[in-house]
Amino acid sequence: MRKQIAAANWKMNLTLQEAKNLASSIASQQVNAGMGHLVLVAVPFPYLIPIQEILRSKEGYHVCAQNLASTNNGAYTGEVSASMLQSLSISYALIGHSERREYNHETNEILAEKINRALENGINPVFCCGEPLAVREEEKQNEYVEKQLKDSLSHLSPEQMNGFIIAYEPIWAIGTGKTASSDQAQDMHKTIRKWVANHYNKEIADSVSILYGGSVKSSNASEIFGKSDVDGGLVGGASLIPAEFIPIITSLKKA
Ligand code: PEP
Repeated sequence: MRKQIAAANWKMNLTLQEAKNLASSIASQQVNAGMGHLVLVAVPFPYLIPIQEILRSKEGYHVCAQNLASTNNGAYTGEVSASMLQSLSISYALIGHSERREYNHETNEILAEKINRALENGINPVFCCGEPLAVREEEKQNEYVEKQLKDSLSHLSPEQMNGFIIAYEPIWAIGTGKTASSDQAQDMHKTIRKWVANHYNKEIADSVSILYGGSVKSSNASEIFGKSDVDGGLVGGASLIPAEFIPIITSLKKA
């Protein structure tokens, strides 16, 4: 079975001590690594090392960067490169979160470069895509997401796409308390998997983990993760609360 993933996105929250306490609480949950279950914890850059220290010995848990630069080094004040992350043994990074697309003007083309830098440096991208409300209201969400995939991913080789991680996050459901229905999530995940099958092949499409993000909580995780093309979730608000996030981990699909 392809990897089933519960990914926490802490965004720009928590003091160092709060972050350490939260990581320790979350890591008290055993992860079923034999079933391909994985927990990723996307933390602000200064916390990568201290949280990695806490998660290092926990099977199935990995710290994850929330972003990386589109260039490898040079005069880019304030940026953090994939090669720097590699030198810290970080092996996952979110790429293209909708907040970065909006506030930092990250285009599909810039994100293609970020994915290249990640892969060149042995980092697994978690590529985020998803449509805004106006697009959903016009029922153009499939075309919108397919263009995001085409512009940022279609240059990848079959080897690079094998086992790739994509997070579908409808922007209208992020941090709004409004969740896509499990059927809406399944429909888009199926569209994404079909896009991968058409551009690569069915075997590769079946290896890609597609996470749903947008107001996932302990009360809706099982239903959403139960859908056949949903391979876990990318979780913002609820990932800051152990009593919410731990049941989300245990809601991952069993083989
Ligand atoms: C996110 O930021 O990726 C996210 C899905 O946030 P939330 O769960 O709070 O909607």
